[in-house]
Amino acid sequence: MKSFSHPSDVENRLLVVQNQVALACERANRDKNGVTLVAVSKFHDAERISVTLELGHRVFGENRVQEAQDKWPDLRQAYPDINLHLIGPLQTNKVKSAVALFDVIESVDREKLARALAKEFTATQRHLPVYIQVNTGDEPQKAGILPKDADTFISLCQDELGLDVQGLMCIPPAQEEPALHFALLSKIAKRNGLKNLSMGMSGDFETAIDLGATHIRVGTAIFGQR
Ligand SMILES: *Cc1c(COP(=O)(O)O)cnc(C)c1O
Repeated sequence: MKSFSHPSDVENRLLVVQNQVALACERANRDKNGVTLVAVSKFHDAERISVTLELGHRVFGENRVQEAQDKWPDLRQAYPDINLHLIGPLQTNKVKSAVALFDVIESVDREKLARALAKEFTATQRHLPVYIQVNTGDEPQKAGILPKDADTFISLCQDELGLDVQGLMCIPPAQEEPALHFALLSKIAKRNGLKNLSMGMSGDFETAIDLGATHIRVGTAIFGQR
């Protein structure tokens, strides 16, 4: 029974997470409207997602273009105010589909991608908000701009490419204290005048809220095991 959950479980878990977010905001002395819960629905089907839509939830994250394309066009027909974030790696050959489908691109992690997005935004006149993904742990196998290159990359995106950079995103190394990475991301955002921080997942979103997250990406705690 571990990996299967009943729709009512999703309903209960969403309410629990929303409550935890409100309490974390209270503890941090923050307005809860300043924290957006991005419900990460990867690997979960439309039926499961619908439970949260019926409860009024509208902001979602997916990490694969193909999977999102299979699930979201129908859901959007029913709920036109859905706000869909791409939170996973984007290949340049999928930029066209991604720009057509998503509302926010959170995973801008290299120059080639930034250029391809800028070109597609111009071509389609669809200028999506973007986040720069920062590899706060300097992990060689992980996507993202290294902290030491972040300032230069942010200027390139804003000044040369004209991207609407709204904030930064990070995925801390699995075995490390996430707070250090959240604090680093916040510091880089601050010195570049960026207001949004997408950080914190099921295991650490309360810590992220305490350190200034404006967007938390929560999957398992809402939808159950993948
Ligand atoms: C899957 C995923 C999440 C959600 O992780 P959970 O631990 O299930 O909450 C958040 N961010 C990214 C980039 C992901 O790929």
